[in-house]
Amino acid sequence: MGYIQNRMRLIRLIRIYPLVVIGLLALVYLLGGFSDQSDQLIPKSALITLLYIFASVVPLLFIIGFIYIGAAGNKVAKASSKSDKFNYQSPFDLPSEQMSGYKLALITGRPPILTGLTGDTYLADASASCSKDVNHVPPVAECECGFYAYRDLDEATFELTVNPGSFLLAVDLYGVGFKYDRGYRAENQVVRGLKKPGRCQHCRTLPAKVFVTSYRMGYDNTTWWQWQFRCTLCSSSHKAADKLSIAQMEKVLSVKIT
Ligand SMILES: [Zn+2]
Ligand SMILES: [Zn+2]
Repeated sequence: MGYIQNRMRLIRLIRIYPLVVIGLLALVYLLGGFSDQSDQLIPKSALITLLYIFASVVPLLFIIGFIYIGAAGNKVAKASSKSDKFNYQSPFDLPSEQMSGYKLALITGRPPILTGLTGDTYLADASASCSKDVNHVPPVAECECGFYAYRDLDEATFELTVNPGSFLLAVDLYGVGFKYDRGYRAENQVVRGLKKPGRCQHCRTLPAKVFVTSYRMGYDNTTWWQWQFRCTLCSSSHKAADKLSIAQMEKVLSVKIT
């Protein structure tokens, strides 16, 4: 899907924008944009105008880019939801291919449990339930219920970079399922594995060694325990009771950590 790749590209560009600004500031400084001498190569006013343009026009271009990509995404979603209904009105027409995919999850609570980015918790081997309608046996075409997974590892890996604190899971989906433009939505899910981040999720620099949990304050006075995979230094202030080794976490979640 073109719009997904475009969104990734745009976000990568936004990440390097601060570096470009610092580079530009350095260049303007070297060219004398901040000095009061009059014998400059390029007039000071021209340099300052260039800076102003860069600081205002480029963010505007980013905003326009996001609006454009958002609109393209909505169009694709609309088209695919139409084709969903058209293709899969009867449960016997559902795709029969094996649905192996990837998804993001947080680890929250005590004892730790896999938690979707929307806040629903699930076990390593689970059947979906619908939070909107108790009569639904997920997935229901007109509803959003069911377990979701990306088909594409690259896309899941990219989403991981924009959702700090989350972990990458490899999953198999079974039972009644739908295919949508980014992946699958199905009734049953088995988590095949959790990929441990190479670097500490706190300092993002040192190699991570151990799971630790901290108490988080959310909106509406909600609080929860969130688990992170951290380096020795960033986990040193945690009590022993708030730490789990990789082997211990594997046992509690019943998920292989690789
Ligand atoms: Zn539902
Ligand atoms: Zn660290």
